[in-house]
Amino acid sequence: MVAPRVYEALSQPLVGHLDPYFFELSEQVRSLLGHVYSTKNEFNIAVSGTGSSGMEAAVANFAEPGVKFALLTNGFFGDRIGEMARRQGAGVARLAKNWGEPFDPQEAREFIRRERPRVVAFVQAETSTGMFNDARPISEAAHEVDALVIADCVTSLGGMPVRVDENGIDIAYSCTQKGLSCPPGLSPMTVSPRALERLRARKSTVQSWYLDLLLLEGYYFGHKYHHTASATMLYALREGLALIAEEGVENGWERHRRNHLAFVSGIEAMGLRMHVAEGHRLWTLNTPCVPEGVDDARVRQYLLQERGMEIAGGFGPLAGKVFRIGLMGHGSTAENVLMVLEALESALKQQGYKPAGDSRAAAEKSLGATV
Ligand SMILES: *Cc1c(COP(=O)(O)O)cnc(C)c1O
Repeated sequence: MVAPRVYEALSQPLVGHLDPYFFELSEQVRSLLGHVYSTKNEFNIAVSGTGSSGMEAAVANFAEPGVKFALLTNGFFGDRIGEMARRQGAGVARLAKNWGEPFDPQEAREFIRRERPRVVAFVQAETSTGMFNDARPISEAAHEVDALVIADCVTSLGGMPVRVDENGIDIAYSCTQKGLSCPPGLSPMTVSPRALERLRARKSTVQSWYLDLLLLEGYYFGHKYHHTASATMLYALREGLALIAEEGVENGWERHRRNHLAFVSGIEAMGLRMHVAEGHRLWTLNTPCVPEGVDDARVRQYLLQERGMEIAGGFGPLAGKVFRIGLMGHGSTAENVLMVLEALESALKQQGYKPAGDSRAAAEKSLGATV
């Protein structure tokens, strides 16, 4: 959901991509990104392109052809990183789990120590499954073998504790359209000094000209033309980030946690199960299992057509098995939790599902208990 103030920001008068005000704007975004990513890094930019452009920038700049690239994957977006690394000519070593199954920290550490890669990548918030992957064991082992850590924070930034510095993440990227309450169009990235040093020492040129981070450094920090970035999208991003800073980054996480817990209470009261084990769930994206005998496509169609509500279905190995329900950014409100629970319950009843208990009462109780 796009925040009203972001819609307003989108209508501000345009300035050119080399205007002094454009660089004031990108400087404000740089500083706000450092705050929201919880990092002292100075290299914080918004790459022109959606979340996948940040993923591609991370991979193209740090996975030189021929290097060992260790990937920990338990979902669709993890696999996408692996495919990008393969196309860059990196040697990809995979530690793969079923979609929505957590990594065993010890197994993750042993995998990295054994492979001794130059780069380790994982997805912090796996949107295909609703799972949060803990950075700590991964980054600790990666730093032991002097590898850089790439973290996909697309569905965690703005909604969950990303904590780039504390978690030892070297390269993080996200997008504007999930936890930041903006339209799609930019990929906010942060890069550690250690990673930049590695990049400056790189022998081969980065295969992607458009996503070459040192060329982008020349643009955003050296004010030299590289491409025509959109001031409009930067207005939106600045506003989305300012909203988070005004609420307080940690207060925002707490709001997401509280609404997620209330949603889960309602779902379980209804008699549905969550796909991801407790303690590993995203607060931004919820994945209740589709109950036996219910057609998930019909549920989604009912919600969209009768209630004007869009939820997503599962795909890949989770096709037809889970719903994916986003409660992120501007959309994470107690009101939305109660509204979607009620609508989902109606949709399920239409197909003969009998709710076990009172989902609204359970959600309200949870909201009251976690104020
Ligand atoms: C959405 C998403 C992406 C891709 O972002 P786009 O904006 O669709 O390019 C990458 N990783 C994760 C975890 C995502 O949820």
